[in-house]
Amino acid sequence: MDIKELYQEIVLDHGKNPRNKNKLKSFNKEAKGHNPLCGDKIHIFLKLDNDKKVEDISFEGEGCAISIASASIMTETIKGKEFNVAKKILENFLNMLKESSKLRINSLSEDENTTMMSLSGVKRFPMRVKCATLAWHTFMHAAEEKKGTANTEK
Ligand code: ZN
Repeated sequence: MDIKELYQEIVLDHGKNPRNKNKLKSFNKEAKGHNPLCGDKIHIFLKLDNDKKVEDISFEGEGCAISIASASIMTETIKGKEFNVAKKILENFLNMLKESSKLRINSLSEDENTTMMSLSGVKRFPMRVKCATLAWHTFMHAAEEKKGTANTEK
């Protein structure tokens, strides 16, 4: 199996069997995100503890396979991480999609890096990049307690 096939398999798996797709029983931050170009809607539930650690995170939503897979991968990757680390991961992820840079985050395991890189295929499709970044923007929206809905077009 070449790397492209591996990436496709990972995205398909997360799209079909999304992780952390439920509403947390206890959360202290939440935000909704909308990608009007595709119709994707994501609702993030976040529990940040006092030490600014992502104690728990989940999502609900409807959208294309890419948006759901991305939300699944995002929640799986940053759960249990310090908020500052999660923010760094987010920045690296956005850079990876904007430029053709490879993802190399020291705080991530080899497997976590591979899983995040699996979304790199969307780079060739600018419309799809918004599907892949929606959950990440919505996470920041929740963490920073911004008002309103995170919107990929604003
Ligand atoms: Zn989409």
